[in-house]
Amino acid sequence: MDKQFLAKMKAELLKQKAEILRHLEAESEGFREIVEDMDPKDIVDMAADDVDKKNLEALNVVETRKLSLIENALGRIQNERYGVCMECSKIIPTPRLEAIPYALFCIDCQTKKDRQNR
Ligand SMILES: [Zn+2]
Repeated sequence: MDKQFLAKMKAELLKQKAEILRHLEAESEGFREIVEDMDPKDIVDMAADDVDKKNLEALNVVETRKLSLIENALGRIQNERYGVCMECSKIIPTPRLEAIPYALFCIDCQTKKDRQNR
């Protein structure tokens, strides 16, 4: 695969990784502040905050999953396996990689997987 393209994708992956890390950090910071500011007698009224906490966790799950995909893609650049579908070993078209730099599967395999997950 084109070295220039790989370098571009690597930079993009690193950028997205930094963004997620900053995001996760800001979130956990915000969450800690909420808890620290809480008056112990308010804990009786925690139900509403509980919901917030669950939303926060759900968001973190999505971001953490994306982070692991990004890590995976960076590893694949290192191993010179980047842009090769993990399922059928076909080359993933570059427009797809440009849209989703951490794509692990070609469109055909991704579509099959999405159907299985449903
Ligand atoms: Zn495939």
